[in-house]
Amino acid sequence: MATLLSRLALLEPRSLDQALRLLRDEGPLVPVAGCTDLFVGFHFGTVSNRRFLDLQGLRALRGIRLRGETLVIGALATYTDLIRSPLVRRRLPILAEAARTVGSPQIQNRGTLGGNIANASPAGDTLPVLAVAEAAVVLRNAEGERRVSLGAFYTGYRETLMRSDELIVAVEVPPIEGRQWFRKVGTRAAQAISKVVMAAVRAPRPRIALGSVAPTVVRLPRTEALLAGGAPLAEAQAALALEIQPIDDLRSTAAYRRRVSANLLGQFWAETSGPPLTP
Ligand SMILES: Cc1cc2nc3c(=O)[nH]c(=O)nc-3n(C[C@H](O)[C@H](O)[C@H](O)COP(=O)(O)OP(=O)(O)OC[C@H]3O[C@@H](n4cnc5c(N)ncnc54)[C@H](O)[C@@H]3O)c2cc1C
Repeated sequence: MATLLSRLALLEPRSLDQALRLLRDEGPLVPVAGCTDLFVGFHFGTVSNRRFLDLQGLRALRGIRLRGETLVIGALATYTDLIRSPLVRRRLPILAEAARTVGSPQIQNRGTLGGNIANASPAGDTLPVLAVAEAAVVLRNAEGERRVSLGAFYTGYRETLMRSDELIVAVEVPPIEGRQWFRKVGTRAAQAISKVVMAAVRAPRPRIALGSVAPTVVRLPRTEALLAGGAPLAEAQAALALEIQPIDDLRSTAAYRRRVSANLLGQFWAETSGPPLTP
């Protein structure tokens, strides 16, 4: 591995401004955060770039804080940071729950929220959570900053509207009313990529998002509207089946994913129907 890495260039900016100037003037550069996804790419020979931008020295991308009522999570927040954060556990407990299901403690210590978003896998465990939280991805380049809702961020399978001179600097999460719910179904409890992953909020207008059942993470507007209108669960489950496009792949079959998605909807609805459990 040392031989392979020695042929690569790693630029190590000390500030966000410097990093953004390097991206603009010295590109193309591939940002490196925790390197958990990129390392897999090196291993399988799917990373062809030779020049990288190390984000680890950028303090501006760290931290989890409240700005007014908005929860602001820096792109370099690791899964361990999310699990340990009292703010995340209070405001968005399903994000901490999702983080606990990612990989192993080693991956949780290195992998970052920004990396999970930018990697754009439809199986990314945090993505359904951010979708139901109606989070905004904060993107910055040397010229300025823009906010994009998570729903609009993904344009296709592993495609985003992030430009090559931009970095994800943070994720902003508005306050959420209602009971939050998360479930990941994989081959086993740890070290497993999801076959299906669902996040949901039980509110007068429920919010439901699924991962691993379409080219991108998906919200289910028709299913949500039926449940909001008091339709029977079976009708909502039938609508859900039309709102997803699962495929057969190494991890599962389309038929299994359809069945499990409908079952998860039923589970969400049943488990959030009573008064909230007091801690
Ligand atoms: C053994 C193993 C198990 C795993 N298990 C899971 C799992 O259960 N669930 C799951 O969802 N994922 C899992 N992953 C995937 C991975 O750990 C996550 O996607 C992780 O969050 C990626 O973050 P990172 O900081 O390591 O990203 P990196 O590998 O550093 O980067 C990933 C991509 O994002 C880009 N990027 C990173 N940060 C930024 C930024 N701030 N701005 C712009 N672009 C950026 C990089 O250029 C690269 O294209 C697993 C990976 C491994 C190796």
